[in-house]
Amino acid sequence: MQYRFATLLLLLFYLPVTQAIELPDIGDTSESFLSLSEDQQLGAAFMRNLRGALNIVNDPEIESYIISLGKRLTTNSNSQQQFHFFVINDSNINAFAGPGGHIGINTGLIMTSETESELASVVAHEIAHVTQRHLARAFEAAQESSVPTAAAIIAAIILASQGSEMATAALATVLASSTQTRINFTRQNEKEADRIGMLLLASSNFDPQGMPAFFERLYRHNKSYDNQSIEFLRTHPLTLSRVSDTRNRAAQYPLAMQYDQTNYYLIKTKIEVLNSHDNKISITHFKRLLETKPSQQQNIVRYGYALSLARANQFQQAMKQIKMLIEQEPERINYQVAAANIAYTAGDLSRAAMICKEYLKTYPHHHALSSLYSRILIKQGNAKESSALLYEHLRRHPLNPSLYRLLAQAEHQNNNLPASHEALAEYYYLTGLPHSGIEQLKLALNLLKTENTAATAKIKYRKTQMEEALQEFK
Ligand SMILES: [Zn+2]
Repeated sequence: MQYRFATLLLLLFYLPVTQAIELPDIGDTSESFLSLSEDQQLGAAFMRNLRGALNIVNDPEIESYIISLGKRLTTNSNSQQQFHFFVINDSNINAFAGPGGHIGINTGLIMTSETESELASVVAHEIAHVTQRHLARAFEAAQESSVPTAAAIIAAIILASQGSEMATAALATVLASSTQTRINFTRQNEKEADRIGMLLLASSNFDPQGMPAFFERLYRHNKSYDNQSIEFLRTHPLTLSRVSDTRNRAAQYPLAMQYDQTNYYLIKTKIEVLNSHDNKISITHFKRLLETKPSQQQNIVRYGYALSLARANQFQQAMKQIKMLIEQEPERINYQVAAANIAYTAGDLSRAAMICKEYLKTYPHHHALSSLYSRILIKQGNAKESSALLYEHLRRHPLNPSLYRLLAQAEHQNNNLPASHEALAEYYYLTGLPHSGIEQLKLALNLLKTENTAATAKIKYRKTQMEEALQEFK
């Protein structure tokens, strides 16, 4: 599978090391090809394509983590651009920047990083591709004429770089409809992304040394597994000179301040547990680690132990471990979220609700707590409160499909069927099923018999928007 794409990716992205071509300076003509609003539209279409094809992580804690890591970096970018960060559950080591500031990070890349600064260095590199408009420039250089074709091409490229099976069909279609599909993240682009990325790292109080450290590991790893090359390096060609450039540049920065990376390690541990195929092995693994690890790492291991126990439905033991963690670090919200989740899965709704309610006071709008609490409220038969919470929360996460699915459930229980269909429409639309989205809106309109009300007007408008998007981005 991978091999078939290799040739194509070579055409699209990859300038081999041996073929050192000096590229002319393209200059900042990117605006003329893709305006910021076109870029946003393209990005939304791109994201809908991806959601239909990739396994995008919808665990609210992992979602929040990558969003806040990205925000910490973009706050210092002085860019007009909006950014959207998400995690893909894929063990391939990869990250990519699509149009509209959509940046995807594979779990494989997160798990390969050893410090938060290493992970941040790749995220910063991707942010720099976006702020420097490399994608738009690449398209302009390719003289690609239409934005819809561009959306399809970018989605196909990324699917291919993810090794997705669906990519074969997608690529065939795209290539048939487009005469020239050359995109190069040139070596020049890569160096610029490294340079800007490192500036972002340093100004966001990450350790600039994280970049050369991570690149070096990827480089060596790639060399030792020749036929299993790292996807990230395929689309972002990495040479030894690039590694040493980043090392030299990092040396010019003052030593970074130490900071608490516990959250990063807890998220890594959560990903590890969620992806383990055997709960028993996972429990034994963490139990053994707990006996051998030095005390300062014990909390992270205990967290993994507790999550593994909970996955094996050993709720009492799991809760016992979480209680120990809470006693040690009562202010660590991850532990309260874990406690609430365990109580919920064990069927103790009132306890789960109590934890959510209590900590939403201190952390209002907390993504994981808000999501879980709205779910609990539905189960407790309090769908009115649930939908109110969800409408409020969706204002902060307007592109989150899981929240719309919950809202559809809540409104269904409220007997507000048109609103339930509306919410389901948004869910389908965001997950790459616009036809189903439009169908849901038609159902909503049929239920609202009275014509010309504000509600029908709103749904009709949304239906037109979806139909137009369907036309433009087939
Ligand atoms: Zn790159």
